[in-house]
Amino acid sequence: MNSHQLFRRSRTRLALWYAVVMGAILSLSALGMYRSLVQSNWTAMEREMESIAGTLHDSLEPMLPASEDPTAVLRRILPELCLARQPCNTNPTLIQRHTTGISDRSTYYIRLFDHHGKLLAFSPNQPADLPPILHATPSQTLQSANSTRYQQFTTILHSAGARHTSHSHPHPHSSWGYLQLGRNLEPFDAEVNRMQWTLLLGFPIALGLIAVSSWWLSGLAMQPIYQSYQQQQQFTANAAHELRSPLASLLATVEAILRLPPAYQHDVPMMLHTVERQGRRLSHLIADLLFLTSFEHSPSPKPFQPCCLNDLISDLTEEFLELATTAKIHLTNHIPNHEVYVLGNESQLYRLVSNLLANAIQYTPNGGQIVVSLTTRDRMALITVKDTGIGIAAVEQTRIFDRFYRVDSDRSRKTGGTGLGLAIAQTIAHAHSGLLTVSSKLELGSTFTVQLPEQKS
Ligand code: ADP
Repeated sequence: MNSHQLFRRSRTRLALWYAVVMGAILSLSALGMYRSLVQSNWTAMEREMESIAGTLHDSLEPMLPASEDPTAVLRRILPELCLARQPCNTNPTLIQRHTTGISDRSTYYIRLFDHHGKLLAFSPNQPADLPPILHATPSQTLQSANSTRYQQFTTILHSAGARHTSHSHPHPHSSWGYLQLGRNLEPFDAEVNRMQWTLLLGFPIALGLIAVSSWWLSGLAMQPIYQSYQQQQQFTANAAHELRSPLASLLATVEAILRLPPAYQHDVPMMLHTVERQGRRLSHLIADLLFLTSFEHSPSPKPFQPCCLNDLISDLTEEFLELATTAKIHLTNHIPNHEVYVLGNESQLYRLVSNLLANAIQYTPNGGQIVVSLTTRDRMALITVKDTGIGIAAVEQTRIFDRFYRVDSDRSRKTGGTGLGLAIAQTIAHAHSGLLTVSSKLELGSTFTVQLPEQKS
């Protein structure tokens, strides 16, 4: 499988996981919200019924007759109700008066039972197929023949002579009878239905949006991984290319030595020198590559320690003095009298400055000058390596820190350059929370500046 397919597959898998997780969260929240809305509507409706039933009960109780045959009295106190087994009139009822302003009048009905559970009276708008016997449950849901649902609430009625404080469970023979309040559930069911439709239509739209956003998000998540993968691939390709040239040249030289006729044996030492040079270049390149790759895994093997930059620069100047003198370059340094410390890894900082110094010597013609100076400014230690060398064109100045980038590859290769020196220097500077910058003019020279946070003792 090629890398493009692999990344596409990973992106699809990631998007799928995003979509599944977000879809599951959305479904659970939507379901929870739906349930809680239905529940709260139901509770509000039950409370309303209980309150109406309580008001009715309190209004009726003082007027209830103690006698066994309540029909005549009921006809007097509730003339609007239909009496069981008697013709019915349809004037506004007591229940309608009590429910005025609370809900639609046709929504409620009322039924009165004696203490044996026998139906005494009922509102004319009660469902036609209701049984004339009492169901001894305080709260009950019924369904009529035309599929309309009703919620019924039953409470005990006490006459003035037989008082009972509870409105809850019906209890035979301790009461005058029962008051039953019913409510048409059509508006409630319509509301629930509306919610279900909203969910049913909204859910696929939300899922579609989730799928699109998951694809986009997974693309965003994969982008840095893809970029880093491409960089790694580029790095490997460059490294292979850089290794191949000296290796090929080394092999060709060895082959030539092996085939050299006996008459030319005096050329062998010179050819072996070439082999040695190529070998060194290879070893140098491999060391740089190893440094960069190991640096990515652990920037510093040891914890950072205070390093005296004065000592570091004077040591390095001393070390490079011979090389500079051989190249007929005047190398000097400016080090302040007070000591400047930074927190870091001494050998890495040594490598950073030595890379800059080696470059300065490499790219400065005979008779040139190099000055290494150490200064401090705004709590930063500044190391500058200034040369009067060939300089770098403005367009190249941003690219010279890239791995394997060389302004003049042939010249750089001849002088043993790998194109990794400045990349390593910059990586070390960054690992020390510092910066490496360049300012340069073609034919006039370059100044490389390292800024590191100063450590005050
Ligand atoms: P190399 O090993 O080729 O020197 P570097 O990463 O150290 O690689 O440098 C990258 C390129 O930057 C070099 O090829 C060179 O062209 C340019 N360069 C670096 N330092 C200097 C300098 N002091 N003067 C002019 N050019 C320089």
